[in-house]
Amino acid sequence: MYQAATTVISSFFNGKVVIVTGSSVGIGRETARKFAENGAKVTITGRNIAALQETEKFCIRSGSKKGDIHIVVGDLNLKETQESIIKETIENFGKLDVLVNNAGAMIPNMEGKRGIDIPDEELRAVMDNNLFTCSSDNGQSRLPNCSMVSLTRLAVPHLETTKGAIVNVSSIAAQPHLSKDFYYNISKAAVDQLTTQLAGNLILKGIRVNSVNPGATSTEFVTRHAGEEVKQQLKAAWETPDIIPIGRMGKVEDIAKVILFLADRSQSEFIIGQHIIVDGGSSLLNNLMCAISVF
Ligand code: NDP
Repeated sequence: MYQAATTVISSFFNGKVVIVTGSSVGIGRETARKFAENGAKVTITGRNIAALQETEKFCIRSGSKKGDIHIVVGDLNLKETQESIIKETIENFGKLDVLVNNAGAMIPNMEGKRGIDIPDEELRAVMDNNLFTCSSDNGQSRLPNCSMVSLTRLAVPHLETTKGAIVNVSSIAAQPHLSKDFYYNISKAAVDQLTTQLAGNLILKGIRVNSVNPGATSTEFVTRHAGEEVKQQLKAAWETPDIIPIGRMGKVEDIAKVILFLADRSQSEFIIGQHIIVDGGSSLLNNLMCAISVF
């Protein structure tokens, strides 16, 4: 059962316009709800229309008017979806203040291959679809899609006008550590590098760029491709101080409130190009132990 947390951050977002990619469920849904609660107009987007309509309901229950939430349904891997997200946001709300590049996925190799045995084309697809640009296979890939570079390119002229902010959602997986499904880690390390490079370039246009790097967070992200037994094992493993010093998995609101903080110029104006780890302390643990225990 979804439960909304109700902390109002500041009045900064009143009337501001925000895009949150991957807002049909999980971290993106709670981030959209929290922006709505704080007075923003929000474009929510993903492929699952029913889930997006649920997100819209949560936003309305949290205080936004129906017209202040705009839904764009589509695969972010497609150029036309990306263009619709930007075009419809400007048509509906007149401007853009914040882009949250949150959509992403980690899908294990379907034949059970791990590490270097995973075929080259899967690495290429992860990098293309999780990071760089719209897919060359016109969205037919089953692999992660978030196309941060091309969506950001479309958003920049509008963010320059408002002196806005970009928050990328990366991962603690971006840090050097061992993992058996390491193509995802490679793509998130590249997201961190993208954040650094964009931040240095775009601050010259007045746009602030930072990333939030979550640790294990309670969504369907990792478990959606696992059977029930694996889900229970992961849950049991994660909810221990051996893995996460604070003794619990992250909640979506733990991540969402840091995203809002980084998007709020009145709170975080002087933070540029940083990767903020939000993980209950898990990245403080020994890398080898994490590698054996978590993935
Ligand atoms: P979920 O799997 O719960 O949600 C992922 C979101 O991304 C969904 O709204 C999904 O929408 C959207 N999405 C994925 N692919 C596409 C696509 N091709 N086109 C459009 N939308 C897409 O994941 P989380 O909320 O947990 O993850 C959000 C971000 O946080 C990701 O970038 C992930 O890498 C990162 N992260 C998550 C961690 C965790 O433990 N949960 C840990 C570290 C980082 P739909 O299905 O409707 O298309």
